[in-house]
Amino acid sequence: MVGAGPGDPELMTLKGLELIKKADVIIYDHLAGEELLKHAREGAELIYVGKRAGKHSYTQEETNRLLIEKAGEGIVVVRLKGGDPFVFGRGGEEAAALMQAGIAFDIVPGVTSAIAVPAAANIPVTDRRYASSFAVVTGQEDPKKADKMDYGALGADTVVVLMGVGNLENIIIQMLRRRSKNTPVAIIEHGTTERQRVITCTLGNVVEKATKSKVKPPAVIVIGEVVNLREALSGV
Ligand code: SAH
Repeated sequence: MVGAGPGDPELMTLKGLELIKKADVIIYDHLAGEELLKHAREGAELIYVGKRAGKHSYTQEETNRLLIEKAGEGIVVVRLKGGDPFVFGRGGEEAAALMQAGIAFDIVPGVTSAIAVPAAANIPVTDRRYASSFAVVTGQEDPKKADKMDYGALGADTVVVLMGVGNLENIIIQMLRRRSKNTPVAIIEHGTTERQRVITCTLGNVVEKATKSKVKPPAVIVIGEVVNLREALSGV
């Protein structure tokens, strides 16, 4: 189970790349850096299990079954996942399914978008002066989970929201309960890639700005004073 990094193919680990070169089968999804697949050996089987507009996409159960079936053939299977395999993206569920099926696997960590995407936009998630802690949260919880997260109750100085675009208004309304409307916010779309776009605003106007700028996933949303460091750290 290999982390593909945040988007820029050069942010893949050496260990992960070696495995891609060796693999007989690569099972990959959306955001798992298609550029990296160029390193697959000739004849390797490449299977896309991500979401595809209008077409059948694999359910989690089907993906698990595919992993077990391929790995059960005794060949080298790489499950390539965006960022780090265990930061959202259901890597833990896939690993558990393999365990249950008695299939040996290794986890190769990846550079997570939660930290790398802000960094690529010159935003450090911590800073001695402004942020002693950061929280990484999902904007989209499992609808079946009974105990829903309260974004307003998050105590970390910096909050990094993944998968937050669709639920932005709700998240922001909750956050405004304990944070000032002047709190700086950055939205980074397609971070670390040529399509990277950074929008800076505040908690008070982020919903309006995101709508106006037609923000679309994948995007990381960073909330906290560290966003203001961006200008000073732009390296120009
Ligand atoms: N395991 C992944 C996260 C999977 S959840 C990781 O560690 O990075 C998918 C979410 O990650 C997206 O909805 C988006 O919020 C974020 N994301 C991943 N790649 C991104 C990128 N290049 N730019 C902005 N956001 C990204």
